[in-house]
Amino acid sequence: MGTDIHVPPSGPAAPKFDTIHSIGTRLTLAISLVIALGFGAIVVFYTQQQEKNILLQNERALNQVLDSVNQGLQTVMITASADVARLYADKLKGVKDIDEIRIVRPNGVEAFRDNITIRQVNEYRDTSEFAPRPTEEVNQIFPADNENMLRAIRTQQLVYYYDIQHDNQHLTFLLPIKNLARCKRCHGREQEVLGLLEVRSQLDAVREQVRETWIQSVAVLAISLAAVLLVAAFVLRRYIVRPIEVVSLAMSRVAAGDLAQQIPVMGRDELSSLALSFNSLTEELRSRHAGFNAEHNKLETILMSADEGIVVTDSSGNIVLFNPAAEKLLDKPAARIIDDGLLHLFDDPERVESALENAGVVSSNDIFIYHGRHLAVYASTLRRGDGSMLGHAVLIRDMTEEKRLEQRLRDLSNTDALTGLFNRRALDETLKQEFGLALDQDRALSVMMFDIDHFKKFNDNYGHDQGDRVLKKFASVALSCVREDLDTLCRYGGEEFTLITRETSEEGALILADRIRCAVEAMEVDGLKVTTSIGVAGIRESGVLKPAELIERADAALYEAKRGGRNRVAAAKHRSDA
Ligand code: GH3
Ligand code: MG
Ligand code: MG
Repeated sequence: MGTDIHVPPSGPAAPKFDTIHSIGTRLTLAISLVIALGFGAIVVFYTQQQEKNILLQNERALNQVLDSVNQGLQTVMITASADVARLYADKLKGVKDIDEIRIVRPNGVEAFRDNITIRQVNEYRDTSEFAPRPTEEVNQIFPADNENMLRAIRTQQLVYYYDIQHDNQHLTFLLPIKNLARCKRCHGREQEVLGLLEVRSQLDAVREQVRETWIQSVAVLAISLAAVLLVAAFVLRRYIVRPIEVVSLAMSRVAAGDLAQQIPVMGRDELSSLALSFNSLTEELRSRHAGFNAEHNKLETILMSADEGIVVTDSSGNIVLFNPAAEKLLDKPAARIIDDGLLHLFDDPERVESALENAGVVSSNDIFIYHGRHLAVYASTLRRGDGSMLGHAVLIRDMTEEKRLEQRLRDLSNTDALTGLFNRRALDETLKQEFGLALDQDRALSVMMFDIDHFKKFNDNYGHDQGDRVLKKFASVALSCVREDLDTLCRYGGEEFTLITRETSEEGALILADRIRCAVEAMEVDGLKVTTSIGVAGIRESGVLKPAELIERADAALYEAKRGGRNRVAAAKHRSDA
């Protein structure tokens, strides 16, 4: 019973959800990371594709320009006018997005700037049809061994490449100008490729377009990401984090003792199933708690109303529980019971200690006489399921009234109802005890037997009731003559009495007997008188070895006193007398 009453109430604190470490934040961060990585990958892939497309488009556009220029050049050349060709080439430089359009000979020198071709053509045609230029300039565009140039000439295919000049990226096309049938008229047949058409375009505009694509993609990414995160955070909060928080909050309230907690069940997902389980759990807890409370109340009622004092300690010996009966029996205020502790409950620590050592063993030694009361103390050790000690429980029962009744019964069984003297049973016990002590300690002991004279006749004359009154008076008169602490007067039976006198020789007993005889002789009851005859025997003088023999000797002496005429005292006859 000490186990459940003194469990200290300790509920957990209300839960505090750390925003940073909350499930919602973690999930949102994880999802954000995954989505950001996915979106990033898509953006990078998409933008790279876009970049490729832009460059491809640019290449195509330039290719078209190149084709047109080539066609134009062919046309110009058919007119067999080099000056027109040069003018044409110069004009082309003004085309938007094109930095350079030049016609280059296979040795890397720009055509239409000198008179080499004019001379060759005039020579080949053996005329002076084409007039030389007044000024010549040699403009080496490519080194003669330029790899791209040589490749275009060798393969007779368009070659293009990207390069960086003056911090600007350029796309350069090299289109071989083939020596077609109509060209051979002027240029002869030796060369398969007459030169290269070089078209160079700066990629700044293209780069700017790519940059814009990147910026737009990143912006779209950022906005989409923000939108997705908002939606994800909302969904997470509403469908996962919030329900978990509700369950968690309800659980901590239950832990704090509020078993009425119920969680609304919405939907049929795992969290709804958790809520259902939680609700049935709290229901079960409520029902068990109600049962537990009922048992607790019963126990408390028993404890509080019990007549037995109950004191319970913890394993360190501190008193943790006691009931009102204990307070009453120990006759101490509550604070003192706690202060005194278990060992000093009855002002007898050693006995309490030994009672605790023998905990559970009930014996008569466990009766403590404390503040005038007889207290039966039953100690027991309280143990947990694993056998470890939980404390001690002490049950204190007030035995005072029982002891009193017991004594009263004992007294009644030893007392003669009429005279209040000890009866024959008590006489036998007392004599046996005194006889033993006298022998052991070599002390004197005498007994005397009294018998009222002619009492039958007295009864006949005055009635039995009158006889009873005489017997009572006889008892009080005889008692007044003896020593309270050393002599024991008993009613032997009828109108016969016995006196056991300790530490008294037969001689002394004879004197006392005669004093009693005289007192009885002088006694008057309702104006009536009686006498008594007395036989005396001393233990030493008679030399007897058993109590009954001493009585027999005194009885024999009484008989002698009767025989001698009554109202007299006679000493027992001894062997030496015979
Ligand atoms: P004796 O002198 O020889 O002793 O003569 P006695 O008449 O006393 O003879 P006895 O001892 O034989 O008689 C005892 C009488 O005592 C018998 C009975 O009437 C009376 N008596 C015994 N017990 C009681 C008692 O409790 N009350 C009364 N009133 N009389 C009793
Ligand atoms: Mg008699
Ligand atoms: Mg008699």
